[in-house]
Amino acid sequence: MEMKAKGYALLSGGLDSQLAVKVLQRAGAEVRGVCFATPFFSPAAAVKAAKALGIPLEVVDFTDDEIRLIENPPHGFGGAMNPCIDCHAAMIRRAGEMMSAAGFDFVSTGEVAGQRPMSQNRQALGIVEKSSGLKGRLVRPLSAKLLEPTIPETEGKLDREMLLDIQGRSRERQISLAAEFGIVEYPSPAGGCKLTEKGYGRRLKDLRDHEGLGNRRLVELLSVARRFRFPDGTGVILGRDMRENAVLKECGSLGTVLAPENCPGPTALVPGNAPEDALSQVRGLVAAYSRSDRLGEDVIVGGVPVPGPYDREKFKAYQIC
Ligand code: SF4
Repeated sequence: MEMKAKGYALLSGGLDSQLAVKVLQRAGAEVRGVCFATPFFSPAAAVKAAKALGIPLEVVDFTDDEIRLIENPPHGFGGAMNPCIDCHAAMIRRAGEMMSAAGFDFVSTGEVAGQRPMSQNRQALGIVEKSSGLKGRLVRPLSAKLLEPTIPETEGKLDREMLLDIQGRSRERQISLAAEFGIVEYPSPAGGCKLTEKGYGRRLKDLRDHEGLGNRRLVELLSVARRFRFPDGTGVILGRDMRENAVLKECGSLGTVLAPENCPGPTALVPGNAPEDALSQVRGLVAAYSRSDRLGEDVIVGGVPVPGPYDREKFKAYQIC
């Protein structure tokens, strides 16, 4: 090949994204990595993979983009609160902007035709390409021979013959390619994104539908503590251990923080400006989860004595797990 194609490779750190980089390099391309960071997934695996592959990596904060999609996903959610088709297209669009700014030729992904029922069937690959606005510049090196030639291929900058024709859910070819390329470390293909977890999705949906997703700290707190939603709409984040209690104690700027004063027990954060009657039921919740058994007097929460009996069971119906 006379001219070298240059491009950004979306790097998750998973095996397919690493193989895509190796296949492109073998086909004569110069590759930079790009990965995305949000409270829902971490760039750690991509950072590690980029180091092992020996390529430069740019980490892009993708939180606002992802939140916009969770609020309104044009192609809907997967099995939980994961707007995979739109998320993937938006990541490719962002990488496409970086490609244009750098004067590069393509964006690549580790997608494999027919591998995942929602996000990687043939139709979804087409939707992603169209809605990312990168027609002809999106290279999927692992399945390229099954797809239309891209512009860098037709321009002769990327050797199509060196690209692959993997399809389907079997991982056999990827595993043997990993051995061929000497790739030994990679996380499981499904892991890493909290949006695909059903329990996390329920908490996220509850936050979206009540306090909203505008406050990033509240979004970050979705990973910690128990959560309750009372019938009057009052939300409570309740610490499960000393570490979580310490985190919640630092969140006074987000709402009201309540904790027992005369016995060990959880710290509660009530986001927003909750009225007194709402706080009163939260004091009851904190008292019920406190270690009051040998106290011999009322549990005092936020300066107010809470009379017993303290019954956790009556709060279970309001817990979101
Ligand atoms: S699994 Fe998560 S990061 Fe990946 S495309 Fe789906 S929503 Fe986006």
